[in-house]
Amino acid sequence: EPSSLSGLPAGVGEALEAEGVAELYPPQQAAVEAGVLDGESLVAAVPTASGKTLIAELAMLSSIQRGGKALYIVPLRALASEKKAEFERWEEFDVTVGVSTGNYDSDGEWLASRDIIVATSEKVDSLIRNGAPWIDDLTCVVSDEVHLVDDSHRGPTLEVTLAKLRKVNPGLQTVALSATVGNADVIADWLDAELVESDWRPIELHTGVHFGNAINFDDGSQREVPVERGEDQTAELVGDALDTEEGGQGGSSLVFVNSRRNAESSARKLGEVTSSRLTGEERDRLRELAEEIRGVSDTDTSEDLADAVEQGSAFHHAGLASEHRSLIEDAFRDRLIKCVSATPTLAAGVNTPARRVIVRDWRRYDGEFGGMKPLDVLEVHQMCGRAGRPGLDPYGEAVLLANDADTQEELFERYVWAEAEPVRSKLAAEPALRTHVLATIASGFAATREGLLSFLDNTLYATQTDDEGRLAAVTDTVLDYLEVNGFVERDRDGGAEGLAATGIGHTVSRLYLDPMSAAEILDGLRTVADGDADDAAADAEFVPADEAGADPDADSPGFTTYTRGDAEETDGDADRPDSGNDERPAVTPLGLYHLVSRTPDTYELYLKSGDREEYTEVCYERETEFLGDVPSEYEDVRFEDWLAALKTARLLEDWANEVDEDRIAERYGVGPGDIRGKVDTAEWLLRAAETLARDVEGIDGDVVVQVREARKRLEYGVREELLDLAGVRNVGRKRARRLYEAGIESRADLREADKAVVLGALRGRERTAERILENAGREDPSLDGVDPDSSASAAAT
Ligand code: ADP
Repeated sequence: EPSSLSGLPAGVGEALEAEGVAELYPPQQAAVEAGVLDGESLVAAVPTASGKTLIAELAMLSSIQRGGKALYIVPLRALASEKKAEFERWEEFDVTVGVSTGNYDSDGEWLASRDIIVATSEKVDSLIRNGAPWIDDLTCVVSDEVHLVDDSHRGPTLEVTLAKLRKVNPGLQTVALSATVGNADVIADWLDAELVESDWRPIELHTGVHFGNAINFDDGSQREVPVERGEDQTAELVGDALDTEEGGQGGSSLVFVNSRRNAESSARKLGEVTSSRLTGEERDRLRELAEEIRGVSDTDTSEDLADAVEQGSAFHHAGLASEHRSLIEDAFRDRLIKCVSATPTLAAGVNTPARRVIVRDWRRYDGEFGGMKPLDVLEVHQMCGRAGRPGLDPYGEAVLLANDADTQEELFERYVWAEAEPVRSKLAAEPALRTHVLATIASGFAATREGLLSFLDNTLYATQTDDEGRLAAVTDTVLDYLEVNGFVERDRDGGAEGLAATGIGHTVSRLYLDPMSAAEILDGLRTVADGDADDAAADAEFVPADEAGADPDADSPGFTTYTRGDAEETDGDADRPDSGNDERPAVTPLGLYHLVSRTPDTYELYLKSGDREEYTEVCYERETEFLGDVPSEYEDVRFEDWLAALKTARLLEDWANEVDEDRIAERYGVGPGDIRGKVDTAEWLLRAAETLARDVEGIDGDVVVQVREARKRLEYGVREELLDLAGVRNVGRKRARRLYEAGIESRADLREADKAVVLGALRGRERTAERILENAGREDPSLDGVDPDSSASAAAT
């Protein structure tokens, strides 16, 4: 029976037809038959790239047509803007779209006027905590990649968020989109939803294993791809796909590897394969693209990526800047880039099909496991699902690699023939419950222990478990923790045990902090505020500027008498009072950066070999700056953790000391995207620390000022003296330094300065200089007829 586009909301069928959607795919048709247009809840468990998004769109559009409002929950922040752009094509039907990103502490009031809101589960969680008024108006919620409830870090948030949305709004239509998993029926059960489960794909997929001289496919067919001794299996497979003439076009490949470094080296190597197959015109276009990539940021990663792209090859991983990522994704879809070597982040959601997918690494290093661990079947299936570009390829090919017959057999058993694992809730773990129990109480979803447990009964965990006591036991442990730390008050008199969030508990919940992060931060700040750190202060010595810094001021220890910009204090011992009851340990940016880096809300950098020695040394050199106790070297795990946080804090300190991005990337073995990520997280945590310090009694007002300054230095990536200048739009850290060296030290100076000096310091860039002058509030920013001052440009180099 032909699937039909009639019966869709008015006009939608025609619009889809204009896009080339002639009829619904079978799983889409099944979803319609299950009532998704009529507000019925649905779980759609179908393979990657088989049109799940359209199912969600149909549900949202019909709900909106009935006067409702829809929420689309994405698994990754990077996907939010992509989905928004996709949904904006419905604006001609008067459907408005808003994406909610940004700080975790606002209620996103403006979103009330939008018909479709796109956000991550963390963002939705925080919007609920902050009492977003439009949450009550939702009629349809979509959860994309719902199988990620299985993820131990992020799954519980999605789980609890869906439970809350459904509790607030009992009639809510829930549409959950999932990869094919082992137990989609359980998810449907949990969400009281209809189930559409299917293996159907718009384009045929052949999965196989390459071993020896051929790929052996699951349908019994073979494709000869000889690999001579000394040749590289992956390179031969990429070359073979490109040389295939079927469909008139050589086929592109997507190569999945297990680490960023491997993605980069693979891209370099495969560039040799792709470059020999480029046309002259492609070469020119790739050179232009490479220039654009170099323009995004001034780092080795950027340079390496551009070099590979000139050869028609690229790498893709979470360490890339988002501009880099989208340039690569677009050029790959345009068939200009012939091969992308990627870590699995790409497989999760970004629509980048390739003729051939090569799963080069099927094992990955796992810290908790303590070695190389095979990937989940679900993950490998999602990678394989990226094979085959509808309308371009006759079929898609997914290939795993084996070096011997045994491995070939293992790969068939483990991945080709296997079903994906069942999804399992990770909610009943302390870290997850710590934060969600507090938020559930603070936002009024439960006022008693019984109420809390009955709320938790609406989760996937409760649907799945046969150990009823476990959730209650972990919940009680967590309640004890929250009580001891002053976030929750319990009233044990009377029948039901009453629960209420304290003032600070409310603040922690709204700030979206893990309660353990809040406790750590408060403990650290309190060591500054009370007198118990006298000894540390008495031992304090002047700390020399670190090797990277030329300016000793930035790292100077501050005492109670420390005031901003007080140069005399920076010479340390000379002016330090000998003793005194109001002595406190120095609050330095490093101390604050370390404090936030060791909270569970920061992913610390890994310690590599040699790091332990290096950072142990730093730990002793800078001992006086840490807030709170330093664990003993003999407490192995705790100490390692402490050092990892120190490494992270040093990265942040380098950034705030104006060390080049490039140099930081090299020193810590990270990409520019990681630097941005660490800085953003630390900024957020310091902002939260500032609020906590202000809200809690017994923390000194000076500390609040120091926290704010440490945060501002991260925000702009500059030393203290540049904060004012760097705050002017379009200035940035490098230009601020050049202006400062030319004698322009503040926003006010910019308004008064000799224009020739300004222009010289900005290396003669007239348009930039005019914009900066305007942003600084200069009445007449025009630079007509002004020549850059040559002495200033000399000073700037
Ligand atoms: P999924 O979310 O399942 O991974 P997508 O929703 O991204 O897959 O769909 C993959 C591609 O298929 C998209 O480019 C989409 O436009 C296209 N598509 C979806 N439904 C149809 C259809 N019925 N006919 C033709 N193309 C479709």
